[in-house]
Amino acid sequence: MPELPEVETIRRGLDRRLRGARIVRVEVREPRLRRVVDEAALRSLRGRLIAGVERRAKYLLADVGDGLVWLMHLGMSGRVLLLPRDAPVGAHEHVRVEFDTGWILAYRDPRRFGWMRVAPLNGLEEIANLGPEPLNGDFGAATLRVRLRGTKRDVKAALLDQRVVAGIGNIYANEILFRARVRPTRRCHRLTERDLAAIAGATQAVLSDAVQRRGTSFSDYFDSDGIPGSFQAVLAVFDRAGKPCRRCRGPIKRRAHGGRSSFYCPVCQR
Ligand SMILES: [Zn+2]
Repeated sequence: MPELPEVETIRRGLDRRLRGARIVRVEVREPRLRRVVDEAALRSLRGRLIAGVERRAKYLLADVGDGLVWLMHLGMSGRVLLLPRDAPVGAHEHVRVEFDTGWILAYRDPRRFGWMRVAPLNGLEEIANLGPEPLNGDFGAATLRVRLRGTKRDVKAALLDQRVVAGIGNIYANEILFRARVRPTRRCHRLTERDLAAIAGATQAVLSDAVQRRGTSFSDYFDSDGIPGSFQAVLAVFDRAGKPCRRCRGPIKRRAHGGRSSFYCPVCQR
């Protein structure tokens, strides 16, 4: 599932190629995504210019003018590809949007958990209750303290909660806690000031490294140019059960935890 670094990588590709491009054709081949696509609303994008592409958490927001955005969420397996106009329609291609610059945007999604819609940016319900963006300059220990203080849930569940921090999923939550040297099962109310500072710092460090490496690709993530990310090569704990810790060389442990796998080093993380 794409998380913040993958969506940010896609955003940069879309912004670079589509800013200033005019939409000339919209084709909805399969409206039954996670939510049914409003075909008429999407087709009404014809003639509009893309003023830029922004991101909030894992949402892509293309500014199409008049306060409207074309919102996309990639769900579990959604891919947004930029292709030349004559590119053949691919498998699971549900939406195809053509631009006057010769590019087409192809939305492909085998599992159809993603969705898209056109709506006013003001009052967009998808982003109304999201927590702070972790790559913003003002994100720090104080941001986390306000949101974690007094709760007894474990710190990993808190990091995965989009109201606490926007855009983090299972891969990066595990990596962040390793870098901060905090166990995934630690309870929030037991975190010290030092832990909070370490988690906040690790959040920014891990996510910005991952954006630099254009995200993490196992099998199904590719950016808008079809290029995989490379962060999987430097993962410290995620999907590394039994392999040596990059810090102490002891084996990485895996535990089922809250319906997902947690990976951690029992020596380095306390
Ligand atoms: Zn270790």
